[in-house]
Amino acid sequence: MDDLETYAENTWCPGCGNFGILSAFKKAVKKLEERGIEKEKIIITAGIGCHGKIFDYLKLSGLYSIHGRSMATAQGMKIANPDLKVVAFAGDGDAFGEGMAHMIFAAKRNADITVIIHDNGVYGLTTGQYAPTSQKGFKGPSTPKGSIEEPLNPLSLMLESGASFVARGYPVKLDHLTDIIVQAVEHEGFSFVDVLQPCVSFNNTYQKYNALVEVLDHISDNYEKAMAIAKKEDKLALGIIYQAKKPVYHNELYGDFNPIAKRMPREERMGKIKHLLSP
Ligand code: SF4
Repeated sequence: MDDLETYAENTWCPGCGNFGILSAFKKAVKKLEERGIEKEKIIITAGIGCHGKIFDYLKLSGLYSIHGRSMATAQGMKIANPDLKVVAFAGDGDAFGEGMAHMIFAAKRNADITVIIHDNGVYGLTTGQYAPTSQKGFKGPSTPKGSIEEPLNPLSLMLESGASFVARGYPVKLDHLTDIIVQAVEHEGFSFVDVLQPCVSFNNTYQKYNALVEVLDHISDNYEKAMAIAKKEDKLALGIIYQAKKPVYHNELYGDFNPIAKRMPREERMGKIKHLLSP
C-alpha cells in the first residue's frame, strides 16, 4: 500500500484507461514532493462519472463535487487559499457537457488550477451514451444508428478560451503523462490536460490511439502553431501543446493580499460585517 492509497474498493473495469491516469497522478505527486510541493498542499476535486471515483482512490484532501462543477469548486478552493495547488478531475461529458461554461470561464480568467480530463468519448458510468467528444458515427444506447454530430475538440476549445497551458497525454505512455501532470501543477495559471482514456467497455480506443499518437519534441508558445497541432486529425500529438505566461486570476483579484496569511482577526471581521449591514 503506498501513502496515497485508500481503502476504497476499485470498481473500474479491468483494463480501463483510468488506472493509468491514477498511476500517473500518484507518480506525479511523488515527483512534486521531491520538487518541494508537499502533498498536504495539493487539494483535489472531481465531478460525477467513472472518472470521479479517482477521488476515492487518492488519500489527499479535497471535496467531491457534483456533475460538471469540479472546475468551479477548484476555483473556489484557490480563491479561499491561494497557497494550495488545486487539481480538478473531470470526464469529457462532465467538462464539456454539464460543465462547459465553467471550463470556458476558468480558462478565460486564467484561474490558477489544473484540470485533468478523463476523455473517453462516452458516458461510461451510465453505460455508453454518446458524449461531447464521441466520434461521428459512434453507436450507443442513445445513438443506436450512430451519432450524427461532429465531436468537440477540447484542445482548440481551451486554446480559444484563453488557457495558458494546454496539453494532451495518454495513459499507455505513463511516464510521459506523469511529466505532463507535474508541469501542469507547477504552471502558474490555468493548466489543462486532456487525457486520451480508452473505455474498454463502451469505447475501446486502444488500437486507434496506439496507431495515431506521436510525442511532441518541444513546447510551443506560438498560439497559431499550437492551434494547428490541436486540430490535426491524422496524428494525435502528445505533450504540452501550448504554454504562455499570463496574469493569474487570484493575483489580479487580491494583489499582495492573501486571505490565509493576512487573515483578519474575528473581531475586526465582525466589525466590518456589522458596518456593511448597518442602515
Ligand atoms: Fe472505465 Fe469505461 Fe468501465 Fe467506466 S465503463 S470504468 S470508463 S472501462
